[in-house]
Amino acid sequence: MPRMMRCMLLDTARTPLRQASAPVPRPGPGQVLIQVHACAVCRTDLHVVDADLTQPKLPLIPGHEIVGQVAALGAGVERFSVGDRIGVPWLGWTCGECTFCRAGRENLCAQARFTGYQIDGGYGEFTVADQRFCFSIPAGYSDIEAAPLLCAGLIGYRSLRLAGEARRIGLYGFGAAAHIIAQVARWEGRTIYAFTSSGDAEAQSFARGLGAVWAGGSEQAPPDLLDAAIIFAPVGPLVPAALRAVERGGTVVCAGIHMSPIPSFPYEILWGERVVRSVANLTRRDGEEFLELAPKVPVRTRPLPYALEQANEALDDLRAGRLQGAAVLTLSEKIIQNRSLTLLLRVDPSWSRA
Ligand SMILES: [Zn+2]
Ligand SMILES: [Zn+2]
Repeated sequence: MPRMMRCMLLDTARTPLRQASAPVPRPGPGQVLIQVHACAVCRTDLHVVDADLTQPKLPLIPGHEIVGQVAALGAGVERFSVGDRIGVPWLGWTCGECTFCRAGRENLCAQARFTGYQIDGGYGEFTVADQRFCFSIPAGYSDIEAAPLLCAGLIGYRSLRLAGEARRIGLYGFGAAAHIIAQVARWEGRTIYAFTSSGDAEAQSFARGLGAVWAGGSEQAPPDLLDAAIIFAPVGPLVPAALRAVERGGTVVCAGIHMSPIPSFPYEILWGERVVRSVANLTRRDGEEFLELAPKVPVRTRPLPYALEQANEALDDLRAGRLQGAAVLTLSEKIIQNRSLTLLLRVDPSWSRA
């Protein structure tokens, strides 16, 4: 085991991540040490870097869509063995004792701690995680394909569940989460309507390619009234826009952890038993269910690989809305990348520490 590792570090909010060398963490009781192979880049990482979320530990190694291999076990670990491929999600620890935890709603635990926020995450060669919150990764997915399942997939899945039995579903913001959950929704026999930034033809054709029957700008009215809408973009004005697009009794689910202010709107667009609700975090049960479901669909992700040192570039591309798919930092493969060609060359794992 090396003593030091490469990582990308957030020293203080609103500054770029810094390439750093840090000690390889040691797994405490109940923890596993994981050699990170891939870590997807989530919009929540942007909210941490941009100080929309204000309570990170600092300095911080971000990243909470981690796929890697168990490299060592802390005392008392029995769920996993050295060599197992596992995933680490956003939910990193809960108290297990509060009324929410006892009721199977650990996503609402007030003492919960989150990966890549209060706990160092996956933008580095190694990380430690509480074994109770890790998942086995289904075979059939490469590391970079699996990484986006761990938040874009899980949160998307929880959002879809909270949309109820809706047949016609609008997805506002067609990025990493929507591209996964559109596949699940179609497999369940639902109809997808995709809403993107005005005039984003590339995102609209990406959505149609994944089976959306209609794709247009978020200011447009869909051809049919929707039964539910899920808002993935962190844009408050989408709430009244989505309310106007849903039928009586319909639900608007706000899936993000942060959103710009929601403008006031007339009561009549909420009237008719329409519901606006948020989705907060995930439970371990969401993760188990979704990771069992994903290979059955089968969900295919579109990972857009970046080297670890390109984390700032990945965050910038996400912030600018340039991604059709999910940015993934890859640590087990060396990348030679330009915009038209992505070439993955497998290299000796010792390359990174040479
Ligand atoms: Zn709790
Ligand atoms: Zn996330």
